[in-house]
Amino acid sequence: MAIRNVVKEGDDVLRKQARPVIEFNKRLHILLDDMAETMYETNGVGLAANQVGVLRRVVVIDIGEGLIELINPEIVEQSGNQEEVEGCLSSPGEYGITKRPMRVKVEAFDRFGNEVSYEGEGLLARAICHEVDHLDGVLFKDKVIRMLSPDEIKG
Ligand code: ZN
Repeated sequence: MAIRNVVKEGDDVLRKQARPVIEFNKRLHILLDDMAETMYETNGVGLAANQVGVLRRVVVIDIGEGLIELINPEIVEQSGNQEEVEGCLSSPGEYGITKRPMRVKVEAFDRFGNEVSYEGEGLLARAICHEVDHLDGVLFKDKVIRMLSPDEIKG
């Protein structure tokens, strides 16, 4: 496993559409392992492949309840609303309030190509939306209602 460099806001790769994974091979497994290690090392709750410069529809998430790997994820259901503080490993030190669904259901594949689905609420719903957005070149700042001031972040 290896820690990969996290691309920062301003890099074109964050604005590109990631392509679906077709082959569930060793190369994908290495990418997933590296992404998880990078996420843990940087204390993130999620990471999309775009953020390590790979334009494939691959996401890892861990909100403290275990690692979730999502390949070719699709949000198939959503309900409710939440307005909470959000940040991004590609925009270090910056936080803003976004509006997201309170609950989502996501369908995806695991690393072996098996169909999986997850239902997320609260933080997990937010993380799923945030990471799936990355795969479509969308950043949380595109959806932010209000950025936090430096004083608010310190507090
Ligand atoms: Zn992000």
